[in-house]
Amino acid sequence: MFDLLLRRARLVDDTLTDIAIQDGKIAALGDISAPAKSIVELNGKTYVSAGWIDSHVHCYPKSPIYHDEPDSVGIATGVTTVIDAGSTGADDVDDFWQLTRKASTDVYALLNISRVGLIAQNELANMDNIDADAVRDAVKRRPDFIVGLKARMSSSVVGENGITPLDRAKAMQKENGDLPLMVHIGNNPPNLDEIAERLSAGDIITHCYNGKPNRILTPAGELRASVTRALQRGVRLDVGHGTASFSFAVAQRAIAMGILPHTISSDIYCRNRIDGPVRSLASVMSKFLSIGMTLTQVIDCVTANAADGLRLAHKGRLTTGLDADLTLFTLKHEPVVMVDAEKESLQVDNILVPLAAVRAGKGYMTEQGSAENAFNF
Ligand SMILES: [Zn+2]
Repeated sequence: MFDLLLRRARLVDDTLTDIAIQDGKIAALGDISAPAKSIVELNGKTYVSAGWIDSHVHCYPKSPIYHDEPDSVGIATGVTTVIDAGSTGADDVDDFWQLTRKASTDVYALLNISRVGLIAQNELANMDNIDADAVRDAVKRRPDFIVGLKARMSSSVVGENGITPLDRAKAMQKENGDLPLMVHIGNNPPNLDEIAERLSAGDIITHCYNGKPNRILTPAGELRASVTRALQRGVRLDVGHGTASFSFAVAQRAIAMGILPHTISSDIYCRNRIDGPVRSLASVMSKFLSIGMTLTQVIDCVTANAADGLRLAHKGRLTTGLDADLTLFTLKHEPVVMVDAEKESLQVDNILVPLAAVRAGKGYMTEQGSAENAFNF
């Protein structure tokens, strides 16, 4: 007897399957006749993918600048796993861990290399905040929570320190088992070329389609040579839309040249969630559907690719034995005008609507799913 059975789920390749769940894990796929305590009939209409993973959010509820609640950016919008990108450092990561244990959303952290985290915008302007011992101790204390490091490399953050904080971050990465390192790019200095040259396989550039001078494109619209070389070495591109870090024009041009993101993430927190331009991960994903990516590519960016990038081997795929994290959604043909971080607008014709999520085997309705009274878990 399974705990939960989803019948006739539509996958993004348009095949249909049943999905059985037992003890919080995916137990079986295919044509399933065994009984279950709870059965949800999807009739081949509702899409199901592995649970969506947002690789870049801010959800430390006590952050003085970029705060939110994990479930507001997570399960309420169909996102089963969120990775907070550097809201906390060694000094406050334990408090963040403690505060998020009761969330329905699975929460992980990229540890800010500044021990004070994001208590101010310029956390890397004082080199005394970059403390290798404090980082090492924090990673040891919370090995299942801290999945990587975060370094925000833009002028307003690093002050007079230029590229030096990134060199320190790379050294810390080596000292801590080669954890993934996510690097934020924005205004220069430091110049993106200096940043890209220092990155190696598995490192993640977030805000990859920002429209600032440190964009990945040259003024002529070609990909910077430094970024081409970084991608050849295995560096990964993450969207990190945010309030100020996503340009339709840059993304459209890059995608047309075949420069796709490895991961689509939101950089969401309460202000850009409520007031825009982010709104939700689904909204960011819908933008990519309208600028040249297929549904399969978009879903991969928030499932398998995200799990690979942050080494969450127990997530990201519909495979027996992995976490029973699922997102149930529809694709609605409905023209909506969406805005990027440069205040440019674009008409999006198809929008992704998350209806429900299953997290560790337990079903939750999203805000939109509840409104439509979609399922009975
Ligand atoms: Zn961020």
